[in-house]
Amino acid sequence: MMNHPHTASCIEVICGPMFSGKSEELIRRLRRAQIARQRVQIFKPALDDRYAADRIVSHSDLSLSAEVVRTSEDLIRRVEDRTEVVGIDEVQFFDAGIVAVCEKLANMGKRVVVAGLDLDYRGIPFEPVPQLMAIAEYVTKTLAVCTRCGGPASRSQRLVTSEERIVVGATDTYEARCRRCFEAELTSQLRMDLPSES
Ligand code: ADP
Ligand code: MG
Ligand code: ZN
Repeated sequence: MMNHPHTASCIEVICGPMFSGKSEELIRRLRRAQIARQRVQIFKPALDDRYAADRIVSHSDLSLSAEVVRTSEDLIRRVEDRTEVVGIDEVQFFDAGIVAVCEKLANMGKRVVVAGLDLDYRGIPFEPVPQLMAIAEYVTKTLAVCTRCGGPASRSQRLVTSEERIVVGATDTYEARCRRCFEAELTSQLRMDLPSES
């Protein structure tokens, strides 16, 4: 079947910290595609049963219905031939296979729009998002408002103590911080290693 003339074969990544408007921006782009009568399928990872509701939701209460999938393999199996636009929220929670899946869908002529965290709670790149950013045609970095100083926030400060990379939560568990107000020490001793001076 012919693809819609106005959809491109491409990957778009929307990334940034929590509360930066990634889901809002994803929903905005996908709604516009729906208004253009393109065939849109939206996915989210099945991470936590508390979030099993089949919608992607923003902190400002915008939402769109979505299909919940466990793995990147499940996701690609669910994509229909006629689908023109594939949206994925919380893409950082997928397995590494999501990179090849997005590449394959884009090569098949689909527009793939994904949103997710670029950094984890320690401020370290959250794969597979860096890989997706590298192969994408378009990358949009969204910034939140720093809860300490009101500046542009690029980091997600974890407010509870845990060494787990994934702790699902919202305003009581994380807050947006700028580079200067972010305190990695609070949650972990791990840092990105500096080159050694040998
Ligand atoms: P993300 O998907 O990146 O976590 P959302 O799209 O769900 O972000 O939510 C963005 C919305 O969150 C903003 O429009 C605003 O209403 C709200 N919000 C709450 N706290 C903040 C903050 N510290 N900075 C910016 N927006 C915030
Ligand atoms: Mg979101
Ligand atoms: Zn700040």
